[in-house]
Amino acid sequence: MTASAGPARRIPMIGTSWKMNLLPSTAPAWFGTVTRGIAATSSDPATADREWFVLPPFPALAAAQASLEGSPIRWGGQDVHEDDAGAHTGDVSAPMLADLGCTIAEIGHSERRRDHGETTAMISGKVRAALRWGLTPLLCVGEATQGVPDAAIGLVEGELAGALRGLGPGDLAQVVVAYEPAWAIGEGAQAADLKHVAALHAAIRGWLDARGATAVRVLYGGSVNPRNAADLLTVPGVDGLFVGRAALDPEAFVAIATVTLPQQENGS
Ligand code: PEP
Repeated sequence: MTASAGPARRIPMIGTSWKMNLLPSTAPAWFGTVTRGIAATSSDPATADREWFVLPPFPALAAAQASLEGSPIRWGGQDVHEDDAGAHTGDVSAPMLADLGCTIAEIGHSERRRDHGETTAMISGKVRAALRWGLTPLLCVGEATQGVPDAAIGLVEGELAGALRGLGPGDLAQVVVAYEPAWAIGEGAQAADLKHVAALHAAIRGWLDARGATAVRVLYGGSVNPRNAADLLTVPGVDGLFVGRAALDPEAFVAIATVTLPQQENGS
């Protein structure tokens, strides 16, 4: 472990995963609305200094490349296999994502841990695969059930330690972490309250800073919508947002992606 390198500037990042929604044929309309909506605010200093990304299902990645090349919006995969090639039916590798212009690979979402039995060893292998191919690993962590922050912190620190074990400072600096409490995700759920978000982001920030990873951004995800985005983004330690179902409406995603903040404290 190395000592903290001090505060780093972290550009706010706002993105979405469509999960298993929308279609390759309807994807271009979503991309068009979002690129136009974001371009319309490009001269606004409040949103000029921001990064955006979208993670469509694999079959829509070619459409993402065709629509988003040259735009400020990055695109990537919702998962990646640990291996670069081989006998893994139905899986998608990091070089395949890179070949489609992806620059991000989401790893360890709670739905993949739940539905596909993804283990810590697999998640660590996926992070390494993404790094080998120059993809930003977007590592999802978060406790499964609602409880006090201290209990969640222990679980999340364990997930970080498992997924990122053995990475040197150069590799660690490429990672983006999404804190996503599973109980705050999906239909019928509500975003975690701001105190809980603040406590977890402070703990994750501390864990990363203690390893010299001061530039790693930590996004919040879980029932983000246009009404709560500004409040969540102003929580100290929240470097961006990861949006699920609200962003299926491209206008709603634009509203979140271009939300104006009072004064943002993100360590810069
Ligand atoms: C998610 O699952 O990553 C997510 C943030 O979903 P939602 O916004 O729909 O809660």
